Amino acid sequence: MYRNSWIEIDVDALRDNVKTLKAQTQKKFIAVIKANGYGNGDVAIAKVCVESGADMLAVSSLDEALSIRHAGIDAELLILGYVDPMHLGVCVNENITVTAVSLDWVKMALQQECSGLKVHLKVDTGMNRIGFKSAQELKQGIELLKKGHVQMSGIFTHFACSDDAEHLMTDCQMELFKRIATSLNHEFEWIHCSNSDATVSYQESFSNAVRCGLAMFGTTSYKTELKPVMSLYTKIIHVKKVPAGQTVGYGATYTTKEDEIIATVPIGYADGWIRKHQGRKAYVNGHEAEFVGRICMDQAMLRLKHWEDVGTVVELIGDHISLCRVAQELETIPYEVMTLLSDRLTKVYKRSGSYSDAFTPRFEKVEELDV
Ligand SMILES: *Cc1c(COP(=O)(O)O)cnc(C)c1O
Repeated sequence: MYRNSWIEIDVDALRDNVKTLKAQTQKKFIAVIKANGYGNGDVAIAKVCVESGADMLAVSSLDEALSIRHAGIDAELLILGYVDPMHLGVCVNENITVTAVSLDWVKMALQQECSGLKVHLKVDTGMNRIGFKSAQELKQGIELLKKGHVQMSGIFTHFACSDDAEHLMTDCQMELFKRIATSLNHEFEWIHCSNSDATVSYQESFSNAVRCGLAMFGTTSYKTELKPVMSLYTKIIHVKKVPAGQTVGYGATYTTKEDEIIATVPIGYADGWIRKHQGRKAYVNGHEAEFVGRICMDQAMLRLKHWEDVGTVVELIGDHISLCRVAQELETIPYEVMTLLSDRLTKVYKRSGSYSDAFTPRFEKVEELDV
C-alpha cells in the first residue's frame, strides 16, 4: 500500500515478548489476536505468535477465526466469544474450538450436528458477561455434551479487575473458579483465567495456560520489561506559513495568534485518528507539534515550531510518544487507541532491520519479507 500513514510493527519485539511471557509463566501460551490482531493485522501477528511458541490462538468471533484458517494457519484456535449454534458445523470442519457459554447454548448446540466439536467451558465468576453461573448448570452441560460426543478440552474464566493488583475481586473470582472447576470431576487439558494484566501481576498455580493480547504488544497496566511493538507514523504532505488571525479547519475552531507554520498530514478520523486528538501533540524532528483545528476524515493539521519540508516523518505513537500516553490524554485505554486504527492504514512489519512492504515510507532499505 502506498499511503503515507502507516503502522509499524516490530516483529522482533513481538517475538521477544511472547517468549518472555511464556518463560515467566511456565504455562501454555494462548495468543489473543482478536480485532485484527489488536489492529496490527491478524494473519501476520498470528504467524509471528505461532513461530514464537504460542500454543494456541484465540479470537472473538467465527469470522475472525475463519480469517486465520483461510490464511492457511492450522494452529489450535479458540473463539472466546459467542458463536451462534447454527454455525457449529463450520467450526467442526475447520477444527475451531468454541466457547460453551451457558446451559441454554449447550442445548441449542446439541440440536445441530456437532459430533467432534471441541469446546472450552466458560465459567462466569463475577464478570457477568458470558459463561455458566453455577456448578450445577455446568454438570448438566457436561453430561449433555458427552452424549453429543463433544470434546470438552478446556475450562476458563475471565477477571474483571486484573488492572488493579490491590483489588480483592481477583482472589474471589479465582477461589470460585477453583471450587467450581474441581467439583466437575472432569480432566481439562486447558485451564486458563489470566489476561495480560493478571499474567504479569497475579500468581496462581491452578491454571496451566494464560491468555495474553495486549502484553504481547508490550503494554500492560503494570511496569514490565516487555518491549513496545507498535508505532504509528505519517508524513507531512503540505506545509505553509499562515498569517496571524486566520483560522484552521472545519468550524474555524483555531485562530493563528501570530504568523504560524501549519503542516497537513494524511490521517484522520476515518483512520481511527479521532477528533479528540485536537489539541494533542505529535513528534516531528525533535519537537512536539500540536494538532490545531478539527481533525478531518482523512487529514489533520499541525502547528510546527519551525519549518519542516514536505516528506518529513511525523511520529504519532512511538519512541517519543508512548501508546499509554496517547491513551491517557484521550481519557481511554491503550486497547481502544490500537483497535480504533483502521484497515486503511498501511502496515509495515520490521524484522531484523528489514521491512515487509515494498513501499517502506520511512526508510531507504527495502526488502520483501514474507510475514
Ligand atoms: C480480550 C481477551 C483477553 C486478552 O486480554 P488482554 O488484556 O489483551 O490480554 C483474554 N481473555 C478474554 C476472554 C478476552 O476477551
